[in-house]
Amino acid sequence: MGDLPFLPYGRQSIDDDDIAAVTEALKADYLTTGPRVEAFEAAFAEAVGAPHAVACSNGTAALHLSMLALGVGEGDLAIAPSITFLATANCARYVGAEVVFADVDPLSGLMTPQTLAEALARAAIAFPGRPVRAVLPVHLRGEVCDLPGLADLAAGAGAVLVEDAPHALGSAMTFGNVTERVGDARHSAMATFSFHPVKTIATGEGGMITTRDAATAQRLRTLRSHGMVRPEAGDPWLYEMAEPGFNYRLPDILCALGLSQLKKLPAFASRRRALAARYAERLAGLPHMALAASPAWSDPVLHLLTVLIDFEAAGVSRRAVSERLAAKGVGSQVHYIPVHRQPYYRDRYGALDLPGAEAWYARCLSLPLYPAMADTDVDRVVEALEGALR
Ligand SMILES: *Cc1c(COP(=O)(O)O)cnc(C)c1O
Repeated sequence: MGDLPFLPYGRQSIDDDDIAAVTEALKADYLTTGPRVEAFEAAFAEAVGAPHAVACSNGTAALHLSMLALGVGEGDLAIAPSITFLATANCARYVGAEVVFADVDPLSGLMTPQTLAEALARAAIAFPGRPVRAVLPVHLRGEVCDLPGLADLAAGAGAVLVEDAPHALGSAMTFGNVTERVGDARHSAMATFSFHPVKTIATGEGGMITTRDAATAQRLRTLRSHGMVRPEAGDPWLYEMAEPGFNYRLPDILCALGLSQLKKLPAFASRRRALAARYAERLAGLPHMALAASPAWSDPVLHLLTVLIDFEAAGVSRRAVSERLAAKGVGSQVHYIPVHRQPYYRDRYGALDLPGAEAWYARCLSLPLYPAMADTDVDRVVEALEGALR
């Protein structure tokens, strides 16, 4: 057992053709702001079924740009689920808006129309008269939120959706009779993605924003590069800045890697689906645990394989389980510590009572899931988990 390789909870798959694509980009004329940026954007837009995709330096920059493009600022409110990575909430603070945390369904970890309605009611009491401008559903683990339900409620409050979708590249959803892909942005103003190494495709650091609105895409491109605009009929050196933007560009070197990785998305997706199916089979019937729930409309490519474990009933702490797993060469992780509990937010907004988020956090544990895993690795993880809970 000791010489078996360690299985992290997630990792990238980089092959020789990815390396060759980067090498070629390194020999090209443009290391940044070159043709590979547009090529990656076009291929990504096509892959998710959106008319526009704007590449940027990481998923956090994508979220920040989305707030800037919507003009969210001081005096405004944004609603984020408490079960997510920090950046989903932080992006509102970058632009001076206040965050109202929504609770989540304790079995799926997702924001729902019910938890959004409750957050909207709480927002009106905590910040009377302030407009809710954006609602940021997170497709946690790759499971898709009830986008039509959330979009209706958001619209009723005068807000739009910004999907934080780094977990859900490749996921699909069926509402009514319509099947669509996450990132097509039919229900939202924008959807954001990350290419951090644990995400479905990797560029090291990298991000993307998709939208159906050409003006929004144009604005995102301007804000991504200092707010600079080159007037069409001006002097050849002329650029103008109407508002300060950022340097959130993704270099050609990384776009080359992204293009190469994107070609493998179908293969990555089917491998993740197969591994998830094997986990479901092997975990079925084990005591004190269940796979996190999948909504009926969601057809996920899972980014995280999360089990919900009743540690109390099992008579063992999560820490002990995670240490026992690690001793068997099996990585695990907790997604996530409720963001409303972070000292910064607790100091700012006081202690909140979000029972769904607390219940999720008390039970969740993510197990290894990435395309290079073998079927026997799943068996090894499940055996180690059974042993750790015994
Ligand atoms: C990874 C992630 C981000 C941030 O992406 P980075 O590229 O690491 O900046 C934001 N939100 C969620 C839900 C994520 O998983």
